[in-house]
Amino acid sequence: MNLDLAVLEAFRALTGIAPDGIWRAPGRINLIGEHTDYNDGFVLPFALPQAAYLAAGRRDDARIRVVSVDLGERFETGLDELAPNQDGWHAYLAGVFWALREAGHEVGGADLALASDVPIGAGLSSSAAIECVLVEALNDLYDLGIEPMDRAKLARRAENAYVGAPTGLMDQAASALCTAGHALFLDCRSLAVEQIPFDPERHGHAVLVVDTLTRHSHADGEYASRREDCERAAELLGVPALRDVGDDDLAERLAVLADDQLIRRARHVVTEDQRVLDACAALRADDFAALGALMTASHVSMRDDYEITEPSVDLTVETALAHGAAGARMTGGGFGGCVLVLAALDRLDEIGAAIRAAFADSGRPAPATFVARPAAGAGRLA
Ligand code: ADP
Ligand code: MG
Repeated sequence: MNLDLAVLEAFRALTGIAPDGIWRAPGRINLIGEHTDYNDGFVLPFALPQAAYLAAGRRDDARIRVVSVDLGERFETGLDELAPNQDGWHAYLAGVFWALREAGHEVGGADLALASDVPIGAGLSSSAAIECVLVEALNDLYDLGIEPMDRAKLARRAENAYVGAPTGLMDQAASALCTAGHALFLDCRSLAVEQIPFDPERHGHAVLVVDTLTRHSHADGEYASRREDCERAAELLGVPALRDVGDDDLAERLAVLADDQLIRRARHVVTEDQRVLDACAALRADDFAALGALMTASHVSMRDDYEITEPSVDLTVETALAHGAAGARMTGGGFGGCVLVLAALDRLDEIGAAIRAAFADSGRPAPATFVARPAAGAGRLA
């Protein structure tokens, strides 16, 4: 069943009446620009066709009632009972009410029915999708008049302060602001955004997403240590953030760090920022060969300098390239998760089959694959 119908039915079952509307907000994937966000740098995500759907209706009292179709669970609370640092799936939603009220927005109670086909925990940001779909709905239902970037910031605040997950703004900005057929360039320092045309199929290409199904249990510690290395490198280089290190004479500049690991960590960030800018230029020129080369260079940098890949993602990238992909890279925080493969349409089947065979031959479970068409950001459906 279509998810808009699923949430409509679930809303009727919850309330006995029709909702005031139905909203949608997508998951996202990052085309290029990894571990650049906390260095004040650049990212280039695009929205996925997979999305969270929400049927919502206003309530006259201060109650919140929500049902998750996917989990088959209900949750109910009062606006005055909201307090940060909550666990559970409903915290992402309760956190949105909390963040809106804390920012001074006059939001009342609501009945909500939620369903999503963004896979949970695959790095495709199922969490931002459910936060952003709710901000969108409440903004409309309560006439809050919040600008799109501020909607993304409020969704992020729900996740950071209420759920307690320290994430950057990329996920929510992508879910809230992306437009179909574009990637979203985001400057993580100024928060300036730009829609960059990205419609691979119009140019005989496609982006295949391969979920390796590998998840790393130590990713949090590894992430923290990369952040520390970056902060230390910036301090030693005398700049506010690695974003401020240009890539001219890079080897000479980084030599000041006098530590091989720090040099490699900084080199990844500085060169990755430049690759994002170069990728924007490649997209504007419809140069998919150049885009592919940048993606592969990004992967090599993550593998050798930032050391955040692992055997399953490396195998996926190597296999894709060996079978004629224009480029391939791991996407997301690292140590597993998804790989993006950019390829000509007539190579896709062979590449997918080769990756599945390589996984089978090495005793790995079959990866999940889908073609990602750059989709629209959050909005009202009905
Ligand atoms: P992701 O990489 O998918 O964003 P997170 O751990 O950040 O992974 O967020 C996943 C969490 O978001 C889930 O554990 C759940 O609490 C919540 N969530 C996502 N989608 C749904 C859904 N359809 N219904 C209920 N909760 C959901
Ligand atoms: Mg998330």
